[in-house]
Amino acid sequence: MSDIPLRTPEQAAKTAERHNRKLAQRFPLLADQLDVIGAWTPEKVLEDERRWRAKMDASDRRAQERGDMLRSLVAQRLTDDALSALDIYFRQVLPQNGGYWADFWWQKLKLYCPEMAQQKCPWVEQHDAFAKYESVCRTCGRRLTSVPADSPELAAAEADSSTRRAAEHGR
Ligand SMILES: [Zn+2]
Repeated sequence: MSDIPLRTPEQAAKTAERHNRKLAQRFPLLADQLDVIGAWTPEKVLEDERRWRAKMDASDRRAQERGDMLRSLVAQRLTDDALSALDIYFRQVLPQNGGYWADFWWQKLKLYCPEMAQQKCPWVEQHDAFAKYESVCRTCGRRLTSVPADSPELAAAEADSSTRRAAEHGR
């Protein structure tokens, strides 16, 4: 959760004023029709901020939940002491938000339980697609089996690219 206080109505009024002044400088011919081209009111500034914060909070909660889930997997491999040492490290050293929490436990899962990390990889659905370009997933480290060298797909792709190369040379 964000602990930065919300803008006061006075600050919102100043923000709106500044925006409207810039708008008038940019479009001097429309300076008397600012509300048509997007003038801000203090209410709009506050409403936008509330909406933006709600979005950030929801995203932080999702990351927090992912971190909790990853931590519970790591917990299956470590002693209680080792786990609480990691909790203490996180609390003392890293910023306290969902994004850091999720990333911290993702790194620990890769370290202590690589096969579980490969199952929980956020790109697990794309592994087959990655296999055409990479031998290892850059996120979870899983070895990717690529299309066999004698597959019809690969032959077709190669034929296609050599035709294209030939066409380019011909020009
Ligand atoms: Zn992966």
